[in-house]
Amino acid sequence: MEHQDTSQRFMIDDSSIRGEWCRIESTYQAVIAKHDYPLAVRGLLGEMMVAATMLSSTLKFEGRLTLQARGNGPLQLATVECTHDKHLRAIARWQGETDSLTFTQLLDSAHLAITIEPTKGEAYQGIVPLEHENLSRCLEHYFQQSEQLDTRIWLNEGDGRAAGFMIQVLPYNSTDSAMLDKSEDDKAEDWIRAVALADTLKAEEHLSLPIEELLHRLYHEESVRLFDAQPVTFKCSCSRERMSKALVSVGKDELDDILAEQEQITMNCEFCNASHIFDKMDVHMLFDASNPNNDTNTH
Ligand SMILES: [Zn+2]
Repeated sequence: MEHQDTSQRFMIDDSSIRGEWCRIESTYQAVIAKHDYPLAVRGLLGEMMVAATMLSSTLKFEGRLTLQARGNGPLQLATVECTHDKHLRAIARWQGETDSLTFTQLLDSAHLAITIEPTKGEAYQGIVPLEHENLSRCLEHYFQQSEQLDTRIWLNEGDGRAAGFMIQVLPYNSTDSAMLDKSEDDKAEDWIRAVALADTLKAEEHLSLPIEELLHRLYHEESVRLFDAQPVTFKCSCSRERMSKALVSVGKDELDDILAEQEQITMNCEFCNASHIFDKMDVHMLFDASNPNNDTNTH
């Protein structure tokens, strides 16, 4: 069976419930191949990647969504970025033994920052305390508290893949006219039923079944509308131009000091392991305002 990396939206007809689904394999593999991550760290990165992808699908503008967990446990940092066109990159930093640890032990008193950066407009950041037993519970609480939206999220990682399934009650005004006739009790009933059915999803089904089959398995008594699949890919946004800007921010004097001791400065991107090398001439050119070629050579 072919497992393409995709993200897809669905709606349960005659209800105010919509859903997101995402499964990644090559994208996930590309990320975990860059560093020698322990199993527990890999697993969390996989879950964060599908979560970020599903959350980015709820945005209605171009830009980038970042999930960043920072804690005091062995996992100090985990960051996942997802753009509106579903380009993902991710990285984690850890130390010591991690594999027998639970989510809470791994992150210890951690916070998750959800940052939304529209290409045009102001960035927005929400902070989620990671005080529940797993990432999905923490994100559900975030939606409940910040958006007042009933949300359930299922995240799985295994067999070199990661998968996410999310359902959410749409705000009242965005539902169709058929919903106006429905009582609050009936709507609550719809939600309880949709959650109970999704709760029967087994991890191996989640990680392997095509979405059509998966939705049929869960909601064959309902009519479900499935929207177009969106491809998800690993793509790093680093470039020689961005590295150049980082070097400029260090300042000419400091760079000159470094270059007095070594031939060149190597800038490594932690997300994709790309190296960008700047020799004395390159650094000189960075501070030469008349040079029009400072921002070429992206990779
Ligand atoms: Zn990179």
